[in-house]
Amino acid sequence: MIFRPLNDRGVIARWQQYLPVSDATPFVSLNEGSTPLIHSPKLSAKVGRGCEFYIKYEGLNPTGSFKDRGMTVAISKAIEEGAEAVICASTGNTSAAAAAYAARAGITCVVLLPAGKIAFGKLAQAFMYGAKVVAIDGNFDDALRLVREIGETEPIAIVNSINPYRLQGQKTAAFEIIEELGDAPDFHVLPVGNAGNISAYWMGYQEFHQLGKASRAPRMIGFQASGSAPIFHNKVIENPDTIATAIRIGNPASWEYATAAVTNSNGAIDIVTDEEILSAQMWLASNEGIYVEPASAAGIAGIFKSLDPARAAERRFPEIPEGSRIVCTVTGHGLKDPDVAKEQCGSVIPAPAEKNEILRRLT
Ligand SMILES: *Cc1c(COP(=O)(O)O)cnc(C)c1O
Repeated sequence: MIFRPLNDRGVIARWQQYLPVSDATPFVSLNEGSTPLIHSPKLSAKVGRGCEFYIKYEGLNPTGSFKDRGMTVAISKAIEEGAEAVICASTGNTSAAAAAYAARAGITCVVLLPAGKIAFGKLAQAFMYGAKVVAIDGNFDDALRLVREIGETEPIAIVNSINPYRLQGQKTAAFEIIEELGDAPDFHVLPVGNAGNISAYWMGYQEFHQLGKASRAPRMIGFQASGSAPIFHNKVIENPDTIATAIRIGNPASWEYATAAVTNSNGAIDIVTDEEILSAQMWLASNEGIYVEPASAAGIAGIFKSLDPARAAERRFPEIPEGSRIVCTVTGHGLKDPDVAKEQCGSVIPAPAEKNEILRRLT
């Protein structure tokens, strides 16, 4: 029997006419998508000149990142095609999403992770959702190569973003933004790792533009971590390094799509340092109440860089015209990577259990 949700929640139910699904497709869903688009008065004011700034908060998906949008489609199609197991390489969030949707569908999930380079929250998710977790002695790019090799010989569906259904599901975030704003924004800013998401957004924006649901498509602006910036440098990075583990990728699978998105939208790929990422992460949490994982703050860090007159010569972010609408996707929840916070946090204030003693320490 094919399960169908009773409401229109979830990416496939809400957007099925734009997705490669049919009456034969089961909907394996956790009511993902329809995430908040939060107006930021503070960032709007920082950009100035009548610009409006919005944050698409993808950390509120069921497993805490935008990966759920693609995974609902990839796993649903895998089930339709009779798969009994799925496999993915992951910097953490893909494995969390794959494991959750595989659990929901009742199939086996295998994840290949680079040993020691996964944020603890994400590892905990893969285990709790019941995945078989293999930590390889190599980086993400090695893991993805091995997944491709295993997929060639074994009866196991690959659910990395080289699976085209992933990008199809992820493009729905652009639909939601257009629906909510009444049109596409002028700029869309986001972090770039394996480069699937920037490609998927561009696909979604173009699709709705062509259907007349938006008057334009935005300029796509992607930010890579400076130690892990293959697209920016236009060369494969053998040993990518950044605290932002979700974008620690030296040879992006969707490199060509991403380059096309940037070129055709008159956008840009720029870089931010780990220091800039961590300070943007802290800024966003302490000024807007939005706690994201380090990689997710790369877009916000990029905005700050582009507004800094001292950096004008090196930046690739184009001038922002008066009255522009800017959307920045923050890709994953902060609680996925509590260790980074631990290092960033100040120390607690020790006090006796006495009112006046506490108040004295707070002044
Ligand atoms: C996967 C991921 C990214 C990078 O997205 P790509 O599609 O690989 O470019 C950024 N941030 C988070 C939190 C992610 O999980």
